[in-house]
Amino acid sequence: MTLDNIIEKIKQAEKIVILTHETPDGDAIGSTLAMKMALKQLGKQADVIIKEYPKTFDFLPGRNEIKSETNVDKYDLAISLDCADFKRLVGNEYFEKAKQTIVIDHHGSNKMYGDFNFVNPVAPACCQILIGMFEYFDIKIDKELGTCILTGIITDTGGFRYSGVTPETFEFTADLLARGVNVSDIYKRVLETKTKPNFELMKRITDRMEFLENGKVTFTYITNQDLKEVNAGVGDHEGLVEIGRDIEGVEVSIFIRQKEDNGNFYKVSMRSNEYVNVSDVCFRFGGGGHEKAAGALIQGEIKEVKQKILNEIKKVL
Ligand code: AMP
Ligand code: MN
Ligand code: MN
Repeated sequence: MTLDNIIEKIKQAEKIVILTHETPDGDAIGSTLAMKMALKQLGKQADVIIKEYPKTFDFLPGRNEIKSETNVDKYDLAISLDCADFKRLVGNEYFEKAKQTIVIDHHGSNKMYGDFNFVNPVAPACCQILIGMFEYFDIKIDKELGTCILTGIITDTGGFRYSGVTPETFEFTADLLARGVNVSDIYKRVLETKTKPNFELMKRITDRMEFLENGKVTFTYITNQDLKEVNAGVGDHEGLVEIGRDIEGVEVSIFIRQKEDNGNFYKVSMRSNEYVNVSDVCFRFGGGGHEKAAGALIQGEIKEVKQKILNEIKKVL
């Protein structure tokens, strides 16, 4: 699918809904808000639906216009951003009912579930795909739009650190900086500010961290009881999986978190350093993601879940 197809679909649509994945991160939120602003410049009003909003991202322009649901059940066009899989898409009932659907994403594991799919697995963030797209559509990337896009880029690249970063990432950031966007403020808010519950969870997961397979693998977890005890809110588990990966000699970090709505399941997060493709590993459990950052949902007690994952990891270490 080409950018011309996308712009054509947008121009034809009257009612547009913008959706993203569950437990939304900076890229998910940044890209949906940026898309809404871009559509406005094209003369189109759109609804962004996000049900759980982490307070870290309260500073983003447009945040107050987000809806948790709408009455409209027939959108002309639904746009999914940063979401590889229909089942992880929040508000997928709107997507299902929409007359036309577009998926814009950067996950290699994307299932291509839209009528039109624009997927670039080389882009370090969905927000970075939007830069090229908006330029092509002649949309002006002003301070507000730039702030949303940069938030997605900073969160998904771990602050410009990950290998997916390209010259364009820095060119775009330099350009925004020159135009007055407070890059260090965004950076500090989204990467360097810990909520108190996040810090409390960090203490627990570091205490419990196990080193396995000659120190190449770390494993840790949090339960619903932990979440309750530290008074955790939306997004307070973010970043915890990175801690294991940053330890010398570790190739794979595994972090599992009990699901609040169904305690029989654990949300698995994996990160790798060099050679293990964790997206492939997660794919075997019905999940996916990127080579070095992926997730899945696994049923069982902590011990069982851990064993299931380790059995697969051992094959690729
Ligand atoms: P997380 O560990 O939740 O931060 O997710 C890491 C990456 O894997 C993100 O890009 C997610 O979108 C993706 N991901 C996480 N969980 C799943 C899942 N169950 N299915 C497919 N992709 C996932
Ligand atoms: Mn995301
Ligand atoms: Mn992303």
